[in-house]
Amino acid sequence: MLILVTNDDGVYSPGLRALADAMATLGDAVIVAPDRNRSAVGHALTLEQPLRAEEIEPGIFAVDGTPTDCVNLGIHGLMMQRPDLVVSGINSGSNMGDDITYSGTVSAALEASLMGIPAIAVSLNAKIFSEADLLTTTRFIIVLAQQVVKKGLPADTFLNVNVPSGPCHGVKVTRQGKRRYGQAVIVNEDPRGRKYYWIGGSSVGFEDIPGTDCCAVSRGFISVTPLHTNLTSDSFCETLKNWPVLCDGGVL
Ligand code: MN
Repeated sequence: MLILVTNDDGVYSPGLRALADAMATLGDAVIVAPDRNRSAVGHALTLEQPLRAEEIEPGIFAVDGTPTDCVNLGIHGLMMQRPDLVVSGINSGSNMGDDITYSGTVSAALEASLMGIPAIAVSLNAKIFSEADLLTTTRFIIVLAQQVVKKGLPADTFLNVNVPSGPCHGVKVTRQGKRRYGQAVIVNEDPRGRKYYWIGGSSVGFEDIPGTDCCAVSRGFISVTPLHTNLTSDSFCETLKNWPVLCDGGVL
């Protein structure tokens, strides 16, 4: 089995190495990851400049691009054959609720699923990883990865895994939750008297909605959310069709 391992925290992050070591117990694990921290770049693809990939150790490539670039380069340039699985992580910090839309970790898995390759994004709800948290995460991902490869996933669908820090009570299949937004931009003054703005200043947590990723992780469960790439709001389609401007004849 051939596995592509990537992340958005960068090629030197401990979570990436732990995940690659875990995947190496299942087959050949090749790392293709950003050469620096590219967290919150979302699904960005680099089109206006060339990319470089440096093999810093055998089977470990550092790319001066985004996580989505890494998946593209890995699959179409650096790996000898198409991987059976793409895993992204282990991210430092959770990727749940609305945060998923910013996540480079999740977007790397999304990119793989667009290419028809089964993919898993893995995040740990801690900034610094304890040995125990890493062990919980890697043990679970090894078993999940085996089942994903064996059973496959539906088209355009991938798995987003979030692991709690501390005691783990089990696993729950969840839905994407909802973040509560607070004062998101900090305004301050630099030493030369000019204003600067810093995004992401305060975190006020998540709505406690039963069945969601954040609800499960906050109660000490591993959350596994199946995500898909089609963003259509099916529930609003029928209502929208009845808007005067969109009805038959409408304004045209
Ligand atoms: Mn990250």
